[in-house]
Amino acid sequence: MKKIIITIDGWSSCGKSTLAKQLAKALNYVYVDSGAMYRAITLYFLRNHVDWTDKKEVEKALKAISLEFNYNDKLQQSEIYLNGENVEYVIRDLVVAEKVSDVAAIKEVRDFAVAQQKKMGRHRGIVMDGRDIGTVVFPDAELKIFMTADNAVRVERRFKELYEKNPAITLDEVKTNLEMRDYIDSHRDVSPLRQADDARILDNTNLTEKEQFQKALKWAHQLKVPAA
Ligand code: C5P
Repeated sequence: MKKIIITIDGWSSCGKSTLAKQLAKALNYVYVDSGAMYRAITLYFLRNHVDWTDKKEVEKALKAISLEFNYNDKLQQSEIYLNGENVEYVIRDLVVAEKVSDVAAIKEVRDFAVAQQKKMGRHRGIVMDGRDIGTVVFPDAELKIFMTADNAVRVERRFKELYEKNPAITLDEVKTNLEMRDYIDSHRDVSPLRQADDARILDNTNLTEKEQFQKALKWAHQLKVPAA
């Protein structure tokens, strides 16, 4: 059976992880949320007061970080562990979201995360979402998807998600955070967010989750990927 690599890149809150999880399930592939790795590193830096403008401090801190994904059978999802602690939920906090793009722009941080991501894909059969997966992590991936959606739609979706956990959050805070992350992510020197030349664009502004999934699954099947 031929197993492939599927990469999903795009702007913040486009629904990349929703689609990635659905594809991984349908194809019986591993799903990896690369953004969770940058969020977990950021959480470590914040908790340990790491001055990330200091290269030496960053290098020292990275040596103390171990990241792992473990599958939660009950919730049927993969969750990230930072030095043995499940941080899947705490990394979604706005406190982390406000700093993650600065941390993810640091070369040493990217080298650290990308090396692990490449290893995870060595047996193929993987769906990974992020910002540089089709361009830097797996430039040889068979199926590359670049997701996009109208700004207002993205803000609304993320707001709904965060509001469930924190009703004190405002639409404006969410909008500012998304715009800031998109700006930093697409303007940084190391591996900026951009569409790979061979990526297929998926604009889901007017698509339901089901429609976007069917479209992407059709692309995978066109590559003769067998169903699970
Ligand atoms: O995907 P998510 O929104 O959780 O990612 C959080 C942040 O991590 C992004 O805004 C971006 O700064 C960074 N990131 C990245 N490269 C990736 C995935 C995420 O720089 N491959």
